[in-house]
Amino acid sequence: MARIDCNHIRHAYGPHPKSDKDYALKEVHHAFEDGGAYALLGPSGCGKTTLLNIISGLLHPSHGELLFDGRDVTNLSTQERNIAQVFQFPVIYDTMTVYDNLAFPLRNRGVPETDVDRKVRETLEMTGLADMARRKARGLTADQKQKISLGRGLVRSDVNAILFDEPLTVIDPHMKWVLRSQLKQLHRRFGFTMVYVTHDQTEALTFAEKVVVMYEGEIVQIGSPAELFERPKHTFVGYFIGSPGMNVMPVAVEGRNARLGSQTIELPGAPKAGTAGAIELGIRPEYVRLGREGMAVKVSKVEDVGRHKVVRASFEGRDIAAIIGEDADIPADPKIAFEPAGINLYADSWRVEMGA
Ligand code: ADP
Ligand code: MG
Repeated sequence: MARIDCNHIRHAYGPHPKSDKDYALKEVHHAFEDGGAYALLGPSGCGKTTLLNIISGLLHPSHGELLFDGRDVTNLSTQERNIAQVFQFPVIYDTMTVYDNLAFPLRNRGVPETDVDRKVRETLEMTGLADMARRKARGLTADQKQKISLGRGLVRSDVNAILFDEPLTVIDPHMKWVLRSQLKQLHRRFGFTMVYVTHDQTEALTFAEKVVVMYEGEIVQIGSPAELFERPKHTFVGYFIGSPGMNVMPVAVEGRNARLGSQTIELPGAPKAGTAGAIELGIRPEYVRLGREGMAVKVSKVEDVGRHKVVRASFEGRDIAAIIGEDADIPADPKIAFEPAGINLYADSWRVEMGA
């Protein structure tokens, strides 16, 4: 296993990139610690696969370098980097049996046949393919084939890292949950460095210790699930994570007061000196109190989502979502208030610290 350093990595697919928008990856400067379980999370097109393929060596970056345990591997092939990669769609040998598909990466590296057998049997159990070991891969369903792909990524224990690119897309929901738990267990047991790409926040938050959020070719925040929830560094993280996402609204700030329409909201602290740009206040629906005190709102919709209710309200034309308890009532003249602990402030979409 290895620590992976991405040093000032940029990548453009076209031949003559001029401005930032020509780059699929604008600038990635980040270290994946040895043995860490990371999720790369972001919407379609933000550069996740590009970054993963640069790490594995399928793609050579336009700028920057890649280090494994301090050694420059930028010009090495995937094979030389000793990486296992599992793709979105199955990559297997149709004419081989399930067993031989799993044995292939090991035999290829000259692993003795007794060890091959032990590792393959273990992997068959793990992926739930034990009953099909002797069948040809050709006749299997898409999700069975993807399990073989997954198994081929997991069967080797000598790799520097295992990279997953949305590997559960074709797997049915129940099996998704099972496989994800198994990946987590494997990580605990063997301490692989794992990078798991997904656009699904639930998948990212349940799998990873550290979630790397990408947006338009950049990493906007790296944090634990709790950090991403409590202190989104960028308004995009606020929107993208959470259900519903963070409420974000333009405000005018003076000292520790934020002006929102006809109302003044007291901030937990004044923004640091020199804060400029478009200022917005962000508050998650979990921190919006609905009751008889605060700013008068119109409630347009109440969604019952099981353990709680999502209230869609508007304050002087601004949409604001609030989360209330499943048994809570909505008063006749509803008002909302913001819990100070949940208030974040943004300048040009980036979070600003507030002093005491
Ligand atoms: P993600 O995996 O997050 O969906 P990708 O890394 O696949 O995103 O793509 C990032 C950007 O690079 C997108 O704008 C995509 O259209 C572009 N892109 C991806 N692959 C290629 C390619 N082979 N040639 C040109 N542009 C590409
Ligand atoms: Mg992708």
